[in-house]
Amino acid sequence: MARTVFKNGRVFDGTAILPEGTTVVVEGNRIESVSTAPVETAPDDIVHDLGGRMLMPGLVQCHFHTGFGPDAGNPTPYLGDAMPAAYMGMVAAKNAQIAIDFGVTSLIGSSNGDLLDVCLKEAILLGLTVGPRVVACTREMIASGDSADGDNRSWYMGITHTGLIRRVDGVDALRQAIREELGRGCEIVKLSISDGHGSQIIPDWNYMSEAEIQVAVETAHGRNAMVRGHCPSRLGILQCAKAGVDIIDHGDMIDDEGIEAVVAAGSTITPSYLWSERFMAFAESWDYANGPFPIGNGFPETQARTIERLDGVKKQFEYTVSMLPKMRAAGINLALGDDYGFAMMPHGDYASEMEAYVKYGVPDLEVMQWGTRNGARAMGRHGVDLGEVIEGKLADLIVVEGDPTQDVLVFRNPANIQLVLKDGVVQKDLLSAAA
Ligand SMILES: [Zn+2]
Repeated sequence: MARTVFKNGRVFDGTAILPEGTTVVVEGNRIESVSTAPVETAPDDIVHDLGGRMLMPGLVQCHFHTGFGPDAGNPTPYLGDAMPAAYMGMVAAKNAQIAIDFGVTSLIGSSNGDLLDVCLKEAILLGLTVGPRVVACTREMIASGDSADGDNRSWYMGITHTGLIRRVDGVDALRQAIREELGRGCEIVKLSISDGHGSQIIPDWNYMSEAEIQVAVETAHGRNAMVRGHCPSRLGILQCAKAGVDIIDHGDMIDDEGIEAVVAAGSTITPSYLWSERFMAFAESWDYANGPFPIGNGFPETQARTIERLDGVKKQFEYTVSMLPKMRAAGINLALGDDYGFAMMPHGDYASEMEAYVKYGVPDLEVMQWGTRNGARAMGRHGVDLGEVIEGKLADLIVVEGDPTQDVLVFRNPANIQLVLKDGVVQKDLLSAAA
């Protein structure tokens, strides 16, 4: 069988840079060898002389909204959520293509309506679009009165189609909803635990009860599925970790007790700073002469109250950032992924999230570990063979012009991602064209 041989590259294996002269051989969909020993090539082997380019695992996006994208009729923050399902499917296909173009070979869905993740996964499998491996997520399970509850304030969350939220109260109803969505092909359950992360001050209480969180985990894990929680609150982080929630999204108000609980549970956290940064930049540039600030709690408020709220959000973000060194030192599995799809942070802008962590003291190499090895760990059983350049693992590999372990901004320009292999199959190839 023809093999693909990568020689004369710098190899980042998901953890470290391998010695100079490392050659990587792919056969079929697996990595056959990673070695500094000379490799004999056969005439039908495809040989890539990388000329110093980097070979590394494909990126894993761990918080991916397939349906967030341009809205045909409304400005943000509607995010296309008010559009019919047919339109949303096209947004999802486009987002998957963008992800591949930027070197993403796996994604873990966050909330989405109309079984978008499941349908996207199937469409990719059937060749209707290119796209990464998809761990398909459910709608976002919310308790009544959640700020995203489509029956009260955020009416647009549920208009024209099923929306990306599912209102469900109590352990029996939640169990039924989870079973139903898993039965329809979802592989990870999204829970809305508490308010916050972005436009609102984070309370120290949760929308969901501890019993509801526990039953969600028990139900999902019982069917070999995972659970993730929108979880900015201190109490929520603690309760989710103790219940065994696999991915804790945002984790803004984590404290020492929360760090200990997350480490003990082995949960992943997606800090997702880009949304916070972009939201605050938007808020700071707002000219109140144009009218009230357009993103709120759903209730009218005075300008003074808005300014107070935004100031509180900013202070909370400063706290969040201050906890990052502790989270890293404790060994929490931190991973990449953010709320891409808003006009102020479109899909493909993944380098900006990476850049945010570098700005707060995370070395570029470590950000690359979050984006590859840690991402695969966050995928649970879906990621055991991914995220690392190791003999026997699946060939989800990318060739990058430049060295992102020294400068993550290499990922800003898709022209720098010159080859994308998923499961040993070429998804993008600028390398052969240039040769
Ligand atoms: Zn999200």
